[in-house]
Amino acid sequence: MAELNAFDMAQRQFDEVADQLNLEAGVRAVLRWPLREFHFRIPVRMDDGSLKVFDGFRVQHNDARGPAKGGIRFAGNETIDTVRALATWMTWKCAVADIPLGGGKGGVIVDPSTLSVPEKERLCRGWVDQMWKNIGPRADVPAPDVGTTPQMMGWMMDEYSKLSGAFTPGVITGKPLGGGGSLGRTEATGYGVIYTVREAMKVLKIKSKGARAAIHGFGNVGQYAAIGFIEMLGGKVVCVGCWDRHDRKAYTYSKESGVDPKFLMSITDEYGTIDKAKAKKAGYVLEDANAWIAKDVDVLIPAAIEGVLTGETVKKIHKNVKIVAEGANGPTTPEADAVLKKRGIFNIPDFLCNAGGVTCSYFESVQNDMNFYWSKDEVLTKLDQKMTAAFHGVLEMSKTKKVYMRNAAYMVAIDRVNKAMKLRGWV
Ligand code: GLU
Repeated sequence: MAELNAFDMAQRQFDEVADQLNLEAGVRAVLRWPLREFHFRIPVRMDDGSLKVFDGFRVQHNDARGPAKGGIRFAGNETIDTVRALATWMTWKCAVADIPLGGGKGGVIVDPSTLSVPEKERLCRGWVDQMWKNIGPRADVPAPDVGTTPQMMGWMMDEYSKLSGAFTPGVITGKPLGGGGSLGRTEATGYGVIYTVREAMKVLKIKSKGARAAIHGFGNVGQYAAIGFIEMLGGKVVCVGCWDRHDRKAYTYSKESGVDPKFLMSITDEYGTIDKAKAKKAGYVLEDANAWIAKDVDVLIPAAIEGVLTGETVKKIHKNVKIVAEGANGPTTPEADAVLKKRGIFNIPDFLCNAGGVTCSYFESVQNDMNFYWSKDEVLTKLDQKMTAAFHGVLEMSKTKKVYMRNAAYMVAIDRVNKAMKLRGWV
């Protein structure tokens, strides 16, 4: 199989819906590509005294509805096309969640686990040194993503504040608590996934108590999706699929009686690698990388990276699976999508399903602007309302237009962005 190109995938998804909507050629041309892209080099002094130069990116796909918004990824295999795809999906995500923001994404080609803490700090500050004139609370607001952490956001906020000469917490979200961060931001993406799963279960009349899920990924999203599935829905998570950075292989950690996410979190390092020996000792069975896809469960939650459900792997999905809830960005290729559609599996598309993170980021920036902070309860209640409304908006569209949930989500999002562009006289 040819290597997956995430941007190619994002454009194919968009084209399909643009055709269905009969979208005018000019609007299509604007939305198919990002409005602005920054490619830059970041020199970093390493601890051994040598100078290393890293490749950095920021892509602002569309900011008609408000400042560009989206995370920064630190990944060894980062490419400009991945960042373009993720920036594009952010535009649709903010529009579908109905928050007044556009879409952007950033990245650095680096495996963060190879850096010391001071090296990471210098790299984060270096990223801001290159980009600070083109980001800001009213222009473009980054956040964490794969490979970046709240602490990194704290350094970046500090660097921006120093360069701009004013304390500016709203330049970036996902900051640490006490440093301008919002309560609930850590849980937001994973819990948001579960709010949408809860609504889907109601619609499909699936009893959530005792329902079973398999989760791919045990980073921030997977961890809180697991906790939410168990604590909010009374369900059971039978496995988590996870990458091991030491032997550079992925495994499925299974437990028929149900995994204990809090225990697993206690044996997971900051890069999301689970301690295999401790897991085995606690009764977890280690299966191969794709075993999670084949589990006899009601809900599959891919919550790691793009392109895991392909034309090939989708064939492994168990006949009892009723819902695929996409916690990750872009986990399902168009080939796999066709199979899900045919099998009548209910899809909660990525930019709807995982919109809880950016929605809470929006709440964070609102709190930063007011300089007044909400309780965790207040944040999570508002988050639940936003996610539930977004889910039902998309469901309604899918019923009215008789289209698959992903296409319906695109329809809602494209319509909102198109309207904003028209109101501003762009198109
Ligand atoms: N990186 C997250 C996402 O893909 C969050 C973005 C944000 O909070 O701006 O949605």
